[in-house]
Amino acid sequence: MHRLTLGDFELSVFSDGTYPLDGGAFFGVIPKVMWSRKIEADENNCVTSGLNSLLIRTGRQTVLVETGMGNKLSPRMAKFYGQPAQLLDNLAAGGVAPEDIDIVINSHLHFDHCGWNTVRDKNGKFVATFPRAKYYAPEGEWQYARHPSERDSISFISENYDPLVASGQMTLLKGGEEIVPGISVKTFPGHTACMLAVIIRRDLASGRDGKRTALAVPSGANADRASALEGTTACYISDLIPTSAHIDLAWGMGFDLYPLQTIESKKQYYARAVPERWLTVFTHDAKMPWAYVGKDELGKMVARRV
Ligand SMILES: [Zn+2]
Repeated sequence: MHRLTLGDFELSVFSDGTYPLDGGAFFGVIPKVMWSRKIEADENNCVTSGLNSLLIRTGRQTVLVETGMGNKLSPRMAKFYGQPAQLLDNLAAGGVAPEDIDIVINSHLHFDHCGWNTVRDKNGKFVATFPRAKYYAPEGEWQYARHPSERDSISFISENYDPLVASGQMTLLKGGEEIVPGISVKTFPGHTACMLAVIIRRDLASGRDGKRTALAVPSGANADRASALEGTTACYISDLIPTSAHIDLAWGMGFDLYPLQTIESKKQYYARAVPERWLTVFTHDAKMPWAYVGKDELGKMVARRV
């Protein structure tokens, strides 16, 4: 179980399982001789991709960021991806029932990020998996999902969001909003035009008992180098940086609709996340769901384990 505290917030990673993804598509223009040093490919050239959701307990609300792949894939897509569908079981094992979730946030609306938003009820109707939750998703993504390009139309399953928009249970975001105190969203274009990252920020002085509480610091970290802001911010960066193997600026996914914007958005993210030592949460890393991202002595990007 991956869990830590951020001020008076508790952060936990819950997985919907793993699925095979074509390694070439996952690493775009990066040659296999390079990416295969970081991640192993099977005989079909597939790598193992994770489906990490982030649960935040604020003390007042329970917030779920991203809802995995879900259980509504067509037989054809299930043949490709296997449809692991483990999120609800994993939440239950962690003592979290669907009724406990107050807020759900989707970074974008590709099927592997919002799959458990809804389930079919016994009459075949699509209903909210988390019945009490207020759902949030980027408005630009929802607009795009209604008329997607031929290139990524396969990535949208409208039953994941349209029933929630129609019922008023999903609020569409412009980007930049604070959802609850300490949890806000910011647009990072590149993978798609309006993908949101979720930024979780706690003032160190705001711990429940007034004590300074900080994130676990990776072993071997040079305390002198660490900024005063260390341990105050985490960011669910979604498909801007899907795994710890994608932290280099040029290592974008082949799926990215706007690859040059991915590079600009990563630069913008690192400009704050590196000096302020943000904890970066990776959606698709099957082994390292979160890490501190920074530069080593040679200026190369490295992910340091929590
Ligand atoms: Zn995506």
